[in-house]
Amino acid sequence: MKAYAGKILEVDLTTRKFSHIDTKKYAKDFLGGRGLGAKVLYDSVGPQTNPFSGDNVLICSNGPLSGTSAPGSSRTHFTFKSPLTGIYGYSNAGGHFAAELKYAGFDAIVVKGKSEKPCYLYVHDDVAEIKDASAYWGETTFSAGDKIMKDLGERYAQIFAIGQAGENLVRISSIISVGNFTEGKAAARCGGGAVMGSKKLKAIVAIGTKPVEVAEPEKFQAEVDDMIDTLKSDKGSAETAPMFGTSFLVRSLGANGALVTHNFQLGKFEFEEAISGEEMREKYLWKAQGCYGCWNRCCRYVVIRSGPFKGFAGKGPEFETLSMMGSNVGVGRLDAIIKANELADAYGIDTISGGSVIGFAMELYQRGILTKEEVGGLDLRWGNYETVLELIRQIAFKEGLGKILGEGVKIASEIIGRGSEKYAMHTKGLEHIGGDPRGQTGFTLGYVTAPRGADHLGALPVFEYIGKPEEGIKFFGSAEAANRFGVKGKGRLVKWQEELMAIEDSLGTCKTHYSHFSSTFTKILKLGFEKQSRLFSLATGIELSPSQLQKIGERIVNLERAFNVREGITRKDDSLPERFLKEPFKEGGSAGRVVNLEPMLDEYYEARNWDIRTGIPKREKLLELGLDFVVDEIRAPA
Ligand code: SF4
Repeated sequence: MKAYAGKILEVDLTTRKFSHIDTKKYAKDFLGGRGLGAKVLYDSVGPQTNPFSGDNVLICSNGPLSGTSAPGSSRTHFTFKSPLTGIYGYSNAGGHFAAELKYAGFDAIVVKGKSEKPCYLYVHDDVAEIKDASAYWGETTFSAGDKIMKDLGERYAQIFAIGQAGENLVRISSIISVGNFTEGKAAARCGGGAVMGSKKLKAIVAIGTKPVEVAEPEKFQAEVDDMIDTLKSDKGSAETAPMFGTSFLVRSLGANGALVTHNFQLGKFEFEEAISGEEMREKYLWKAQGCYGCWNRCCRYVVIRSGPFKGFAGKGPEFETLSMMGSNVGVGRLDAIIKANELADAYGIDTISGGSVIGFAMELYQRGILTKEEVGGLDLRWGNYETVLELIRQIAFKEGLGKILGEGVKIASEIIGRGSEKYAMHTKGLEHIGGDPRGQTGFTLGYVTAPRGADHLGALPVFEYIGKPEEGIKFFGSAEAANRFGVKGKGRLVKWQEELMAIEDSLGTCKTHYSHFSSTFTKILKLGFEKQSRLFSLATGIELSPSQLQKIGERIVNLERAFNVREGITRKDDSLPERFLKEPFKEGGSAGRVVNLEPMLDEYYEARNWDIRTGIPKREKLLELGLDFVVDEIRAPA
């Protein structure tokens, strides 16, 4: 089995023992990355497990294409039971760690138990060590990573670290990359930082020299070259990505009336231009940077040359941070958002959840539900960037209002009460993102059906923007699939996209290369299951057709759903905050619209062969996918 390192490292931090698992156990049915994580988590973490207990497991995995020349083969996947949502949790980040982990000799690390004192994992050329991290506990992600590299004498090591937020078990904490060419890539969602914090695991460090061999080098490289030609000839990949990264979405979602503003009360922001990708490019951009194997370079590196944050040079915000720490909280100046991004990454806080929960507090203040006296004198009016920066700090250290907000909007609203639940914008406990549901129905269905809660990356159905009506009819049964307000065809579209995303997350590839930045659906078809099945087959020597690859994607999605069903999730949880269902915008490109969710869900469950009433996968479907071990555990209906 080529391209894989061949083994998975299992570490028990309680007993401080190591063991190895043969990757073959997972490769054929689950590939690696997200698929491998799904199977290990399902088998290891039973229902009702406390996410902060030693029984929770953190799986850090690369994919079979990591460390090869496959474009965008940069992604590392973290899987765990989420302390934020209480259900299936994962986060995924770019950088160079995934390749380095394979060079160190491993396809994944499965972390169990809890260390008594702060520690970090150091893996290098088939060797694994648990090392003392007492000297780095209390440090930011960046500072801890830099010191570890210096103390190890490993200048080229790749690291994922947590900051003070993860140490303090903040439920919206992230895991951040540190290392050459890699600063600040965030595995942000679902509170993985707090899972590491609960295990007293400050960082995972990888470095190695082991070669990655592919089965058919010449044919593999020919496929890679063909893909690079395709990327170079596509406007989205060749121009938009390196020029603007995801920040181009500020203007485009603003034009569509779907730019999240003032905690989802508006779809258009008065200072949209001031926080746009164009403004960042003109006034702050230092360079576009890529991860391992990157041909798109969506990552922004920026410099602030004047004003209160003068002198900052480092990673700039992506669209999600521009919206959630910008328009969502009314902040209309880029330098303040850049600073908020830096602080959140340093403390290890998810900027989406962080921006959402601060916007939630600001709306409560606007409505008089929270008063100045109750929030320690903070001025929570929209646009007060000093308050935003102070709240990021308070969240990290569990101080003042930040102690409540760091629990995430769902739990925070339950603590505050007084009708505040109505303004908590989440699905299944995970905060919504910067694209408003009322302006993009396919994306919204994806937020609702994603296993980890309101997730924009679970489906990414850009087809509703770039597709043609005739393609909608041909591939998804309705021309409406190609309309961002359409309802018919969205269930089938989201099903197909979810399976494609599951494959990209499992091969270890970047969605920006294989689908997200595509200008046409023809390109997505070419680089989707077709290209990825050829890359996988030529790299590993395991022959898989495009339809077999899609079937694996379907298996992964069903297994993740089964994990959640085992935790008590059913159709009633595949829902949206009332605001998106009943409150249309008065103006802008999505004026008058609300989400017509139920017919889309019906179509989705039908396409998946899940029970329409409960949303539970049917026995027949699970058996077809080889998930027979799930059938009785979730009482799958006939
Ligand atoms: S497109 Fe962006 S996320 Fe993807 S590999 Fe390149 S820099 Fe990393």
